[in-house]
Amino acid sequence: MNEGKVSTEIYIHIPFCVKKCAYCDFLSFAGNEELKHRYVSALIYEIEHRVYKPKVEDVTSVFIGGGTPSILQIDEIERIMHAVRRRYRILPRAEVTIEVNPGTVDYKKLREMHELGINRLSIGLQSTNNEELKLLVRIHSYEEFLATYDAARDAGFTNINVDLIGALPTQKPLTWRENVVKVAELKPEHISAYSLIIEEGTRFYALYSDDEARRQRGERPIALPTEEEEREMDRITKEVLESYGYHRYEISNYALPGFECEHNKGYWTRKNYLGFGIGAAGMLEGIRYQNGKDIMHYIESGPDISEQMLTRKDEVEEYMFLGLRMDKGVTMSEFERLFNIPFRDVYGETTDSLERDGLIEVDGDAIRLTEHGRDISNYVLSEYIIG
Ligand code: SF4
Repeated sequence: MNEGKVSTEIYIHIPFCVKKCAYCDFLSFAGNEELKHRYVSALIYEIEHRVYKPKVEDVTSVFIGGGTPSILQIDEIERIMHAVRRRYRILPRAEVTIEVNPGTVDYKKLREMHELGINRLSIGLQSTNNEELKLLVRIHSYEEFLATYDAARDAGFTNINVDLIGALPTQKPLTWRENVVKVAELKPEHISAYSLIIEEGTRFYALYSDDEARRQRGERPIALPTEEEEREMDRITKEVLESYGYHRYEISNYALPGFECEHNKGYWTRKNYLGFGIGAAGMLEGIRYQNGKDIMHYIESGPDISEQMLTRKDEVEEYMFLGLRMDKGVTMSEFERLFNIPFRDVYGETTDSLERDGLIEVDGDAIRLTEHGRDISNYVLSEYIIG
């Protein structure tokens, strides 16, 4: 373990939302002003008082996520930012992101966020089609998103991410293309385009789970795209965004040159990160910890922390899973430097076999997913689990 001082990223979780989206399994819920206020005070206490070993000094990026962080009052966001600055040294060129939902900010609030040193916005759009937005139970229309986007530019933001979700019920490759083109036309610096996953506990899960009683009543949920259509949508995303000058640097993330998300890249390359707030996770020098999810416990008694010392196997697998999601993949030399074992001793056979199947490409020292490998990335990544 490093006994000196280390640098890290910081993630801050704000769990509040106006209402729950149909697909959402994040730790998020509605909250009244008093609860929000008490939560922010507890969060500031955690930021200011939590002790780490080794000592953390420099912060390379801050990400305020949720939930919907932009639902907080500006003075609450200000108190959080001041607490981080009082306790840590945010490096001058650090990326500082806040997630924003249309309908929860106006020009004034965005301007004030920018003045607080927040230099990147991540706007949850999800779809440019108002029917799809209704299906997702989003709180905003596409027009409201456009107003937020324009206000963000006017407020001085020069680094904006827009989130999209594809493979929605009723969606077809053609309608997905319209979504992608409309967003690309706006030229945000970064676009995240994920496919819908129906997670347990969500409204969509209740709708799509195999419910015998419902089937007998003849009720059928709206059809989801087929796997082939989903793959087609992924190809469309890449083709359209590349034609607008974006490059894919991770399975679901695209950026204009120089605008890859530093915070996410740090996470995918297994840099240290601290997590504050309920449910937030962190990793410091090979120890992973997770805060409990109970908000009243957090407010009244502080975070209920569980720690896990990662085994060598955990670290090796995580390095492969996260690294292979990125377009540049992993390198055998870095693997050997980090883990002190020859790459081929651990993964030689797996890699040869996946290469024969056209799922992995070995290019000198580098190993990355092929196009086909990306289509079935869950399978390919699962092959790197050590038996
Ligand atoms: S806004 Fe985001 S976090 Fe909140 S309910 Fe919707 S998907 Fe979940």
